[in-house]
Amino acid sequence: MKRISHWIDGRVVAGTSGREGVVWNPATGEQQAAVDLASAAELDAAVAAAKAAFPAWRATGLSRRAEVMFRLRDLIDANREEIASLVTAEHGKVLSDALGEVARGLENVEFATGVPHLLKGGFTEQAATGVDVYSIRQPLGVVAGITPFNFPAMVPMWMFANALACGNTFILKPSEKDPSTALYLAELLARAGLPAGVFNVVNGDKEAVDAILANPDVAAVSFVGSTPIARTIYETGTRAGKRVQALGGAKNHMLVLPDADLDMAADAAVSAAYGSAGERCMAVSVVLAMDPVADALIGKITERIPAIKVGPGTEPDSEMGPLITGEHRDKVAGYVAGASTEGATVVVDGTADVPAGDGFFLKPTLLDGVQPGMACYDDEIFGPVLSVTRIGSYDEGLQLINGNPFGNGVALFTRDGGVARQFQFDVEVGMVGINVPIPVPVSYYSFGGWKASLFGDQHMYGPEGISFFTRSKVVTSRWPDPATSTVDLGFPENR
Ligand code: NAD
Repeated sequence: MKRISHWIDGRVVAGTSGREGVVWNPATGEQQAAVDLASAAELDAAVAAAKAAFPAWRATGLSRRAEVMFRLRDLIDANREEIASLVTAEHGKVLSDALGEVARGLENVEFATGVPHLLKGGFTEQAATGVDVYSIRQPLGVVAGITPFNFPAMVPMWMFANALACGNTFILKPSEKDPSTALYLAELLARAGLPAGVFNVVNGDKEAVDAILANPDVAAVSFVGSTPIARTIYETGTRAGKRVQALGGAKNHMLVLPDADLDMAADAAVSAAYGSAGERCMAVSVVLAMDPVADALIGKITERIPAIKVGPGTEPDSEMGPLITGEHRDKVAGYVAGASTEGATVVVDGTADVPAGDGFFLKPTLLDGVQPGMACYDDEIFGPVLSVTRIGSYDEGLQLINGNPFGNGVALFTRDGGVARQFQFDVEVGMVGINVPIPVPVSYYSFGGWKASLFGDQHMYGPEGISFFTRSKVVTSRWPDPATSTVDLGFPENR
């Protein structure tokens, strides 16, 4: 049985806790590996390595740090297929989807190559006579990232690219359900020239997370996962004096107005609801269909569903893979089973006729007549289940979206620019798509939801990521005499 260990201080380190987790092959339902689950002592050892590596790494020049990011960029680019196949093997998503994840993660490494520019401060000459004032941004020290199962390549890259480029040292605690990608990325970072101890991977579960939160040498925690855990991480981490950004779950609505292009809206709803088997925090899970077009829209979504090819992620023609575990598959199927007793109509039942074998497969489900108060509306299902809620007006749709406890992503489908502009003004959601179903911001903006989708005040990656992983310092200076120069005919170097 393959064993997955930790990466600490520049090398693979076998676990010593005696505890291990199961890594499934979701396409077959068989165990494919065992992952070491760290004890608090093992986590503390990784933090000690990161702490020891910090002074030299923060003193390393910006162009050198950027150079490591450039090399990492090339290594990830050259190994896209390898990373994607690790993702597919453990997560189950289809290879094309995994390649997309790698590409969106890589954007963040590319952004981080610009760190010399990103860390430029402000300067005010002559704030008072002979007095200059300037601001600088400095790294925090040892920082940690705790990541979910659904993007084992992209979400770690959201975090560590900027954190490392800014001069921090890093502890990554990936999801124990698909941990191999993180270790592969650690190897690539080492090959890119990152010194030992600057990036560490500690595999584990709650025990490792609790140890991160308890360790006084961890200055900041970046978390992505479900809302109950995000809330706990935020509350516990900030109580311990750490900086925390904790991104949580979602219930993303897609509002389709009567003037929308219904074919485009149906294509978008199907793609965004069932892509990655609905295991995306930006998946569309509720379509708000206005009455004049609701029947037509549901018809168009329904007719597209049978064409979706469900099968192992490694098969070239599969479009939707299995769910992450059997337990999660059963939980999602439970929402489908409960929908009709709650009063919804099961238009397409994805729990029937699933691919043969023991893989954790479901097919796409479509529910109609879904209302707030039903579990399939209120809960984040995180599976291939699309609900339709019929509404009578734009205002009714807006009220549902703004009344929802989550506020991660939303999409509006319309041809009316004025309504779209009003919608972006009114809607209480962090990421808005206008005729775009999965509006994940590019890496030079920042990613984050509102309300129960994010705890903390800084969004992930982009400019807010740089801000999260640095703290600012303002210097007020006065010099008695500027005459300190010497003659040097050499060409000035910056390293
Ligand atoms: P999860 O909350 O179960 O796990 C996330 C991380 O927390 C993992 O590393 C896990 O080991 C750890 N963890 C789990 N239980 C814990 C506990 N009791 N105490 C401490 N740590 C614990 O989430 P998941 O199932 O891996 O991922 C799916 C969830 O993540 C969904 O809710 C999804 O919406 C959310 N998500 C959000 C975003 C976003 O950007 N907002 C992105 C991706 C996923």
